[in-house]
Parts: sequence; C-alpha cells; structure tokens
Amino acid sequence: MIALSIFMSAIMIYPQNVTGKYRSIKNYASLTLLLIYFLCSWIRWPRGAGEPDQALLMDLVNRRVYIFNIEIWPDELYYLTGLLILAALGLFFVTSLFGRIWCGYTCPHTVFVDLFNKMEAFFQGDRNARIKLDSAPMTKDKFIKKTATHLSWALIAFGFAFGWVCYFYDAPSLALDLWHGKVTSGGLAWLVGLTLSTYLFAGFVRERVCVYMCPYGRFQSAMFDNETIIVTYHDWRGEPRGKKNAESQSGDCIDCGKCVFVCPMGIDIRNGLQIGCIGCGLCVDACNSVMDKLGRPLNLIGYDSIRSTNNKINGTPYKKAIFHPKTLLFGGLFVLVTFLLFYALSNKQELKIASIHDRSVLFTFLPDGSVRNSYVLKIANKTLQKQKIVLSVVGVEGATLKLQGFNQDYAAEHTLGFDPDQSMELIVFVKATKEMLKSSKNPISFQARSDYYDKIFTTNSVFINER
Ligand code: SF4
Ligand code: SF4
Repeated sequence: MIALSIFMSAIMIYPQNVTGKYRSIKNYASLTLLLIYFLCSWIRWPRGAGEPDQALLMDLVNRRVYIFNIEIWPDELYYLTGLLILAALGLFFVTSLFGRIWCGYTCPHTVFVDLFNKMEAFFQGDRNARIKLDSAPMTKDKFIKKTATHLSWALIAFGFAFGWVCYFYDAPSLALDLWHGKVTSGGLAWLVGLTLSTYLFAGFVRERVCVYMCPYGRFQSAMFDNETIIVTYHDWRGEPRGKKNAESQSGDCIDCGKCVFVCPMGIDIRNGLQIGCIGCGLCVDACNSVMDKLGRPLNLIGYDSIRSTNNKINGTPYKKAIFHPKTLLFGGLFVLVTFLLFYALSNKQELKIASIHDRSVLFTFLPDGSVRNSYVLKIANKTLQKQKIVLSVVGVEGATLKLQGFNQDYAAEHTLGFDPDQSMELIVFVKATKEMLKSSKNPISFQARSDYYDKIFTTNSVFINER
C-alpha cells in the first residue's frame, strides 16, 4: 500500500483550497446529498407482519424492490427501467441548460473525491505543503500525516459502503449485525468490495474516472447548444495574458495560474472547453478573487453560454432564451416519461394471473365423452393483504374446472385463499361436452375475482377440441 501511495503521489494533482460562491454551493450540495444518501435508508414504512418496514429497499434475497408503498416484483423490473430512463432524461435536460453541473456538484464520485481532498488538506496542509511533503523523505511527522489521511479515507470509504449496503439489507439490522459480527457473507463481500473500490477510486484514480472511465463525460457535449451555460474563459478580455505594467497592452489575465492550481481536474480552462472540465466553477472563484484584488470586472472566467459570449464580444444586448431546442426536447421527453410512469404505477395490477395451455397433450377424451384441456395457471397476490380469490372459466358456456392437488371435483368456480405476497402455480383441468364447443379452437378466459378488489382479473387462453 505504501509503494502504491508513493507511485500515485508522483502522478497526483494537488488542488489548492479556494473560497467563493461556487465553493460554498459545492459544500452545501455535498452536505445535502450526503445527508440524503445516509438517512434515506433509515426511513421506516410499516407494511405489516412479515414484511420489511424499510421505505427504500432492494431485497435481493426475496427478489423484491420496495419504494414506499410500491412493491416491485421481478417481472415488473420495467418500472425500474422507467425510473432510470426518467433519471437520464432529467440529467440530459439539466445538462442542456447548465452544462456539466451534475459532474461538478452532484456526481457521487465528485462528492467523495472532494471529501477525500478535504481530508488530505486537513491533515497535510494546502497545495504547496502537500507538494513539499510528498517530495520530502519519510519522517515521523510525514508518516503520521500520511497515515491519518489514509485512515480517514478508509473510514469515509467504509461509510459509503455501509450507506450503500443499507439499501439492500435492512439498515438497523445491518448496523446490529455488524456490531455483533453476524453480517451475511454476501453483505460482507459488498462492504469490503465497495470500501476498497471507493478508497482506490476516490483516493488514487480520482479525475481519471471522469476522463477515461465515465461514458457520460464523453457524450454530454452532444446535449450542449449555443444557449447552454458552461464554464468559459473570456479570452477576448483576458488575452494577451501576462504581468501588467503601465505600457503593457496585455489583457485582464495576469497569468497567475490560480485557476489551474485550484482545478481538481488539473486542467487549464484558458485552453478552451475540454473533456476534463467538470464545470465545478472553482476556477471561477479563484479568478474572481484575483480580479477583485486587481479592481477589474469579475467573471473573466465565468458560467456563460456561447451566444452570450459572442454578444459580449460584439457589444450587442443579450437576453437569455430559457427554452431552446435541446431543452425543449429533453424537457418534453422528461414530462412524457413521468406521465407514462405515473400512469403505469397507478394502474399497477396487484393481482396477477397468467395461463399456459399444456403443449404436450392438447386435449383428452374422458370416459363420459367430454373433452378435457389442461393448463398451468400462475396467480400472484402482490398485495400485503390476505385475499380470497374465486377462480372460474368463461367463454365456453357450461365448462367446469378442477385444480390438481385440491380435493375438489369439477365445478363452475373454486375459491382459493392467498396470504400476503403469495403466488401459486396451479395445474388446472377444464372440462366441456362436445355440445358446448363451437369449433376446434374455442377462446376461453380464466377469471380471478378477489374479495379485496371490486375487480375481475383475467387471462385468455383457448380450449382445443378435435378437428
Ligand atoms: S476548469 Fe474550472 S470548472 Fe473545469 S474542472 Fe477545472 S476548476 Fe472546475
Ligand atoms: S486565475 Fe484568472 S488571472 Fe489568474 S491565470 Fe487564471 S484566468 Fe488568469
């Protein structure tokens, strides 16, 4: 680990501390997101006996996802896909308006790298002190500072892992199981894996994740247009850069390098928009502090759109267009998917019934001359209530049914009791006389009538007779 630390320090970026408006926004955003992340898994949502009472839970063992009063079964994962599509469209919409604001302020990787940077600065000092410390030989003082930094990183990494696993493993139980050393092997593997990967990625790989590994950074410029607000160096104001004196014709940039020193990505925004720029605005704060001291107008580096910048260069007035094509496109799609998802969730069937006709034996003649077809019926009670379900068959007048394994004879309907969250797979025989059948293929439906709902749930099939 020490060898890795020495190797990585050779290629590390040493971001300088900075204060200012965007640094404060970043601090508040991080704090809010961390609170949401760590607290949401502790929200309780009573669902009744035998059911988990965690509001947000991905119960992989029992193959259920709980989101407050919504319970998603494995055959309903399209709801989660819908949520992911919605999140992606929301991200595209925000990006079309404000550029890489997600990357700079809210991306979990950015938030944790920022936290790691703060710990590093706390134990080892600001940029210059850290550079000096890294190039100095190992001493007791250096060892203590480095050890404290790495321990704090390991602790934060473990905190992230714990927060994550809480969404998959009842949060209070995880805390208790950890305390008593009884965490399941699966939970332990996730805790160890996530702790190690967070320690590695936020501590050492850092900005390389954004540049080389994150696909979003690669394609998000496709969401930009002339109205998108991005971090911009106003070269028309700043160039030619250099030290000022009475005779110089130089621009506002004094080439102090502060915007580069504070950049967590180690880039020089004065070279124009780059894939490495996460739009965090720290260079804006750094440059504004310089402009303020020099008594020059602020925002030599600032959040600006291409059209606004061009208007400033030409001296023409600028009025922000809130609605531009890409914003309208992503905003419209976001609203549409929200509506579809809301509609789908509000019409979510809490009782599912599906049937498959026996494919090996299409029909059987019974000794009394009637015809019998057999089916596999799947019925799932997706509620947290006990239900009595009356099962019947319609489509062939007079047809009766019988359930294998139940001590009942053929009848027009059968009543089944379902516990909360219970599903059954039934073999069902349907019997009809030849007089009842109109053709070789007779459409039928199985109907499930619940005492809990004022509704009939059906599944369609066919009753096959000889040609
Ligand atoms: S160039 Fe500025 S906005 Fe971009 S990542 Fe660096 S500090 Fe943040
Ligand atoms: S902080 Fe401002 S003045 Fe200093 S180098 Fe960067 S752009 Fe120029």
